[in-house]
Amino acid sequence: MPVLTRLIPSPVVVDIRPGALNDLAGVLADQRISSSGKLAIAISGGSGAVLRERLAPALPSAEWFEVDGGTLDDAIKLADAMKKKGRYDAVVGLGGGKIIDCAKFAAARVGLPLVAVATNLSHDGLCSPVATLDNDAGRGSYGVPNPIAVVIDLDIIREAPVRFVRSGIGDALSNISAVRDWELAARERGEDIDGLAAAMARQAGEAVLRHPGGVGDDAFLQVLAEGLVLTGIAMSVSGDSRPASGACHEINHAFDLLFPKRAASHGEQCGLGAAFAMHLRGAREESAYMAQVLRRHGLPVLPEEIGFTVDEFVQVVEYAPQTRPGRYTILEHLDLSTDQIRDAYADYAKTIGS
Ligand SMILES: [Zn+2]
Repeated sequence: MPVLTRLIPSPVVVDIRPGALNDLAGVLADQRISSSGKLAIAISGGSGAVLRERLAPALPSAEWFEVDGGTLDDAIKLADAMKKKGRYDAVVGLGGGKIIDCAKFAAARVGLPLVAVATNLSHDGLCSPVATLDNDAGRGSYGVPNPIAVVIDLDIIREAPVRFVRSGIGDALSNISAVRDWELAARERGEDIDGLAAAMARQAGEAVLRHPGGVGDDAFLQVLAEGLVLTGIAMSVSGDSRPASGACHEINHAFDLLFPKRAASHGEQCGLGAAFAMHLRGAREESAYMAQVLRRHGLPVLPEEIGFTVDEFVQVVEYAPQTRPGRYTILEHLDLSTDQIRDAYADYAKTIGS
C-alpha cells in the first residue's frame, strides 16, 4: 500500500497581524493550548520589562521568568526555574531570537508545548525545530519540537530597530540561493531533494524579493513574517536546514568564525553571500536583481559596506566550505582558488554596479 500523504509538523496557530499580542490569552484559550491561562512566560530582563508591564494585566494566571542571555546554561536555568515553580499549560517565549531559542530548549526539557511570540524578524529560526544556543564549545544547534503556536504582532515589529527587519530580509532572500544549491547537490551528488520543503522556502524568498513595499509597511512586514515562518516549517518538513542554508550561510558562518568581533548581522551576511553565490553559479541577472533589492532595503551587497576589505571577503569565501563539512553548494562545486575567487568577485562587483 503506497503512502498517500504525509503529515506536516506545523504550529496549530499562526497569528501574524497588527495588534496580535493584545489577543494572546484569548487565542491560546480558543485553541485549547491554554484554557486556564497558566503560562510560563520567558522574557528578557531589559527590553522585555515594558512588554511585561503592558501584557501582565491581561494574563493574570501567568508566571514570568527573566532570561539573562542566549546560552545553554541560561536555557537549563530557565527549565529548572519553571520546574520548581509549578504546573503550566505551555511555555511562551516572548522576545527576540535569543529568548525564543532559550524558551524552545526549556520547553522541550520540561515537556511542554512552546508558543513563540517574536518581537523582531531578524531570522528564520522563530518557527524552526532548532534551538541555537551558545555553549562552552562556541555555538550549538539543538533539535527541539516545532512551536505549537507562532504569534507576531506587526505593531511590535515596527517598534523594533529597523536593522532587525533588514536582517530578516537578507535571511529570507538567501532561501532562493540555498534552494539552488540543494538542486545542484541533487544533480551532481544524487542528494535527495524534498520538493515540498524546497517549494515553501523558495516561494518565501521570491515573495520577499518581488514585494514592492519597504521595511515600514505593514503589507511588506506581513509577507516577510509569513515568509520566515514558512521557512521554519520548510526546515521541519525536510528535517534539516537545507531549504534555507547553502553557500549563503557558509559565507555567513565564515564571517562569524574568522572575524567574531567584527561580524555583521546574520541576514546582512547571508544576503551578501546569496547575491555573490547567485553570481558564481552564472545567474548574473538574478544576482544583480537580488543585489538591487537588498540595496533598496538598506542591506549591504559589497563587503566594504559592512567594514570588510575585498581581501578579507576573498578569505571568507575561501574558508566558507569548511564551516559545513558535507554540505554541497556552488562553492564546493566550483572549488575556486584564491585568484579565481578574486576574479569572480571583481566580476560580481562590476555586474551589480556601485
Ligand atoms: Zn539563516
